[in-house]
Parts: sequence; C-alpha cells; structure tokens
Amino acid sequence: MQVLNNTFTNLPERIAGLGELAENLWWSWHPAARMLFKTLHRRRWKESIHNPDKMLRSMPADLLQAASRDADFVAYYDEVLADFRDYMAVKACLPLHDDTPRNSPAIAYFSAEYGLHHSLPFYAGGLGFLAGDYLKECSDLNIPMVAVGFMYPEGYVSQRVSADGWQESVQVQLDRDAASIGRVLDRDGRPLVVPIPIIEPTIYVAVWRVSVGRVPLFLLDTDIKENDPWNRGISARLYAGDQEQRLRQEIVLGIGGAEVLQVLGIEHAVVHLNEGHAAFSLLERIRDRILEGFGLEEALQRVREKTVFTTHTPVPAGHDIFPFALIEKYFSGFWESLGLDRQSFLALGADPGNGDGFNMTTFALRLSRFKNGVSRRHGQVANQMWRKLWNNEGETEAEAPIKAITNGVHVPTWIEPKMELLLNRYLPQGWLADHDVRSIWDKIDEIPDQELWETHVWLKIKLFNVIVERARQRWSQEQVNPSMVIAGGAMLDSSVLTLGFARRFATYKRADLIFHDIDRLKAMLKDPWRPLQIIFAGKAHPDDHPGKMVLQKIVNIAKDPDYAGRIAFVEDYGEQFAQYLVHGVDVWLNNPIPPMEACGTSGMKASLNGVPNLSILDGWWLEGFGGDNGWAFGGEALEGDRTAADAEALYRLLEEEVIPLYYDNAESGMPGGWVRMMKQAMQQTGAHFSARRMVKEYAALFYRQALERPCPQKKATTERSSS
Ligand SMILES: *Cc1c(COP(=O)(O)O)cnc(C)c1O
Repeated sequence: MQVLNNTFTNLPERIAGLGELAENLWWSWHPAARMLFKTLHRRRWKESIHNPDKMLRSMPADLLQAASRDADFVAYYDEVLADFRDYMAVKACLPLHDDTPRNSPAIAYFSAEYGLHHSLPFYAGGLGFLAGDYLKECSDLNIPMVAVGFMYPEGYVSQRVSADGWQESVQVQLDRDAASIGRVLDRDGRPLVVPIPIIEPTIYVAVWRVSVGRVPLFLLDTDIKENDPWNRGISARLYAGDQEQRLRQEIVLGIGGAEVLQVLGIEHAVVHLNEGHAAFSLLERIRDRILEGFGLEEALQRVREKTVFTTHTPVPAGHDIFPFALIEKYFSGFWESLGLDRQSFLALGADPGNGDGFNMTTFALRLSRFKNGVSRRHGQVANQMWRKLWNNEGETEAEAPIKAITNGVHVPTWIEPKMELLLNRYLPQGWLADHDVRSIWDKIDEIPDQELWETHVWLKIKLFNVIVERARQRWSQEQVNPSMVIAGGAMLDSSVLTLGFARRFATYKRADLIFHDIDRLKAMLKDPWRPLQIIFAGKAHPDDHPGKMVLQKIVNIAKDPDYAGRIAFVEDYGEQFAQYLVHGVDVWLNNPIPPMEACGTSGMKASLNGVPNLSILDGWWLEGFGGDNGWAFGGEALEGDRTAADAEALYRLLEEEVIPLYYDNAESGMPGGWVRMMKQAMQQTGAHFSARRMVKEYAALFYRQALERPCPQKKATTERSSS
C-alpha cells in the first residue's frame, strides 16, 4: 500500500529521519522524541502546539542546516531514530498465543472516536481516549491489529464560552497537511477513493492513514469532490446532525470501513467493535457467508464466533436506536439481495420490550460471541440491561454472557515526563517496559517524600502558568470582560489546595454537585488559613441544553466576586489541557450518579501521577479505592434524588479529611500524610489500571479464542480495483 505522507523537502539529508519520526505517532508517547523536536527549536515547538509535523513545515532551511551540523543534536537524533527503527522492526504476534510473527493483522478494531493526540481532534471524550490508548498499547504489545475510524475535519466542538456563560461552538478546520496523517493511494499512485457498497446513491470515501507505532489506523473521509454536499458533510463532525445523518455516518464507518479493508487487501479474522457505532461492518461478513451457501442462522453463527463487542455505557443516549422506516430506506436492497425478508433482518436489531427501532447495541450483542462491559460493576449493569435478550435469569457471574474487562490508561502516554524521570531513579531499571507487574511499583516507597512533593509542586505551578497565560491572552488579545479573565483562572493560587473536575458536561456527571450548599462551600473557599479552590473544564454536547445550563451555572459562579476567584472554568478542554490538569491538581473530583459511570479513566490518569481521587463509588473506583489512596463516598444504593446525601458526604470528607490532611505541614512545609497518600495512589494504579493489563485481558479472554476458531472460509477472490 502506498501512502502519500507529508514530505519535508527542507530537511537536510543528515537529519532526514525527522520526517519519518514526525509521520508516526510513536513520538507522542516517547518523551525523548518529543524532546528532540523541542531541542530543534523551542519556540516553534511551542507555536506548533507540540505538533512535529506542523513545526518541521515551518522551519527555515538555514536553521535545519545548522542543526544537521550540530554534533550534540545529531547524536541525540541518531539515538532516537535508532530506538524508533528498532521498535518498528519487531513483527506483530499475538501474546499468550504463539510467537509466530504474522504478516497480516488478525484483528480489525472499529471505533467512531480516537483520542490519540490533540493535533488529531477525532474524539469527544472517554470512549475516544480509551480507543486511542488501546491502539498505542496494542502497538507496544505487538498485537496484530488494524484499526478503522473517521476523519472528522471539524473535530467535535471547539468551545468558547460567552460573557453570559453560554457554550458556543467555533468552527475550526483541521489542516490535514499539518498533522501526522497521510492519504492512502491506489495502485497508480492516485488518491484512493472507495465506493461504499449496498447504499444507493453511492457514497465515496477517501482514506487516510495514521501510524500509531506499529498499528495502522485508517480514517474514512467523505469530504471529497466525488460526493454531493449532503454526503460530503457525513464525516464533517463527530456526533453531529439528525438521526438520518447519524445513520449514514454509521453506514460509512461500518460498511465503508469493511470495504476499505477489502480493497486494501487486508485480511482480518476477527472484528472488535468498540461500541455499537460500527456494527454494520458485520453485514458484509454475513453477506459473504450467505453467498457461500449458508442459511441465515448458520451465517450468523459463523460471524459471531469471530466478533468481539465492547459496550461502554448504561446511559440511554449512548445507544443508537434508528426507526425501522429509516433502516428500511437504506437496507431494503441489501436484504432483498440476500433473499432475506424484512422481518428477519429487523429482528437482528430489535430490542425486546422497547418496540420500534433498530438498536445498534442489541444488534452487536446478538452478533458477537465475545462481549464485555468496561468495569466489574458495568459488567453487572450491562448484564442486567440486556438480560432480556437471553432470558437467562439466575445465572452465575461466570455464566453471564457479558464479561467485565476494566479499562486502563496507556501509561507511557499519561505518566508525566518529569514524574517518569523521578521514577527512573527509584524504580528497577526497565520498569516502564514491565509496568503491569504490581511489585515494580513497590519501590515508590523509597522515593524521599520531599522529592515527590517537589515534583508535584513543580507540576502544579506549570499547570497554573498555563491557565494564567490563557487568561492573559484572552485579556490582551480579545479584551474580554475582566470577570471572564477571573473566571478563566487568573486568581488561582498555587499554594492553595486545588480540586480538579474535568470531563464531558453530561448531566449525570453532576459537575455542579459541589454547589449544592453554597454557604458551606464558600466557607471552605474563603477560609483564611486553609482555603480551597476548584478548576473546572469540559464540553457539553452541542445539543445537550441541560448540560449547557450546568456549564453556564459554573461559569457564572466563577465570575461572581463572592467566590473570591477561587473557582475557575477553563475553556476548550482537550487532550493537551487534560495532560496539564491531571498532572497538576492536588485532588481529582468525580461524582456522577451511580451506576451511570461505566468506568471513567481520567481518575486513573490523575492517580498514576500521584493525584488522589475524591470520588463517588462508581465505575473503576469500586475496584480502585483501597482505603489509603484517596477518598470514597456514596456507594450505597439510594432511591430517587440523591443529590443532598451525596453533597453532604462530599462536604464532610472535604472538611474532616481532605483539607486537614493537605494543610498538615507544620514540620517541613510538606504534608507528610498527604505524600504517603500520593504514593499509594501511584502504587495502586500503575499496574492494574494500565492499558497493558487491559489489552492482555482482551487477548487472553477473547482474541486468542476467537482466532482459534476455524477461520471463515475465504471469499472467492474477485479482482478489486486497487490495493
Ligand atoms: C481521559 C479523558 C477523558 C475521559 O474522562 P472520564 O473520566 O472517562 O470522563 C475525557 N476527556 C479527555 C480530554 C481525557 O483525557
């Protein structure tokens, strides 16, 4: 396969490999590679917002020439490039399966979102980051995988908050030429364009490739001249448009994605659906089996044996249900061509007891033998939700059709580089390569408290600098109202205990819970000796009016002098700010309505860096809370509106435990008890809540077995247009 990567004609021969590095996201989780670009030109690195592709493009030839003659730089360059090439030279094989290298990816992973780096804005929230971390870890573990997703040139929403606190979306167009992506070409070296089968009139997709280390990710793009405007807009933005446009997105992702893999000649035995959005990708597989002569039931059975499905949320809006009439409009030709009747097709997506609509989750559940939720608790909840599909009342946990594999975060991505350096000094050599071994983290006990504390304070100040600088920019460049500058965090004080709360503004996450009793909160914020401050960030879905109202409430509070500048709302939460925030606050706050948080991963990112969680017992925290690594509340089942009870529990913990522990620093200016808790947070997170542990579980529980089943018969090969 040919890919038209960005070429950097300005690079001198001696350091031409910088272009190679810039075109593979490997640089994003290897601090040495990032440092190499930073060393090349500090200011341009900053101006490109840490995007090597964009930065190299902006470099004048004379500066690059000078770098190519700088002995220190060139030595560093050689070292990083050698590491990269060694990494890439390893052939994929399946861990726990056999060590035979495989030439073709065995598993195709489908997801509507990927959170890989802020320069590739193809994510809305947790689902995307899970998928991005998953690919990075599959690369690190040599899993033979290929991934499919969407190119969204307008991303999700770029958030601006108006003076009255209302979230507005600003259009930001991705510059496809200044990102680590390349256009896939056909045999003749022309940009590949693939028509999507089944659907009339035809939709065409262009294909982009992102190299995530060893894992190729193919992104489909409908914004090309071959399509009429309605179709061009299909991939414009994540989760945008009406129901029909949404259905068309899922058709493109699923059916188009499967077709693109065919056209590229990528054989894959197993399909892994990350959420139901891409479940239509199974239709081509069903069709192939039927065309081979199997009856419908037999065909479904064969597809099922090779399908893995991960469901991610108990929240209803997270499950797409399309009216049957709409499904009929797009798929009647499909089922007719297979000799199926309407009823047997629609039955695949029927939701018993919830009449009229084709449910992508029930469709995916029916068609996958390997199914899971994303934490132990969510596994139980998902089995409850979908029990009606199997009528298996009273089964044991081992018999439950939906398994539980708890999410984890990609440690090399989320451990802060300065923290990593500290760990390098005290943990066994090569610890990062073995970070899912629990005992590796024991050595954290040997880090002198003072050193860990100083590293944390340094990261906290870095975060505050970033926030204040942003507020300053808005003040000086846009002359916004001073109250908005203060709401943006201009008065934050790095000596004050700081809570962080950042995630999507879905109402079940209850960003405003802590404002339940305003007087009680104010007393803490304005305490003269032991004050508290809180940093908020996050986006509401553009159609989520109640979510936007919660956001507005918080921005208005942040502007109110009566809160003394101790509440901040930072706009446009994304990957880059998340990195600063999860590393730099003192406590990570989380208080959704149980059991709505299927897992949650931002708390893991914080905990990994020594930021303890103050969280309701839901999602991962039911497994993660160990008594001495953070605080927990609200685990009990409560009827009805639980706001008051949860708020009370939260205030009590703050007043009686969190605040006293933080300010107990009389001896050395350092709170010893707090630092011990930080150490526990890191020790109890690093191994178990890593993407490494997670991917190994998928491999052991699902991939291995799915691959061992007899492969579906190969389709009679018809010559395809290109490869
Ligand atoms: C990790 C992450 C998320 C997911 O956070 P949750 O705890 O699952 O809500 C969302 N957004 C960004 C930018 C992240 O980095």
